[in-house]
Amino acid sequence: MTLVQSPRGQVYDLRSVTYRVPSATTDGTMHTVVIDDAGRHCSCKAYQYGRPCWHLRAVKDGNAGKPYVRLMPLPPPPAEHPGLASVRDLYEV
Ligand SMILES: [Zn+2]
Repeated sequence: MTLVQSPRGQVYDLRSVTYRVPSATTDGTMHTVVIDDAGRHCSCKAYQYGRPCWHLRAVKDGNAGKPYVRLMPLPPPPAEHPGLASVRDLYEV
């Protein structure tokens, strides 16, 4: 689980980052590289056969363009209630 925070203070769980990388050999074909908690995966044949592929390399080198980022907003932490008495205080009155 990777947490990120927006400038407004909303906290998100970063679920996955997806890149669309064009195939180097087949025009018009895009491969999908997904990075999530389980690691990095690619949809191309080379990766399915367990070989390091060009697409993962492009993502790693920062040559894969802008990613699509999937975020899950998390509820804000419970607010503090400094004005509330504790249960013990009630019994000691
Ligand atoms: Zn690939």
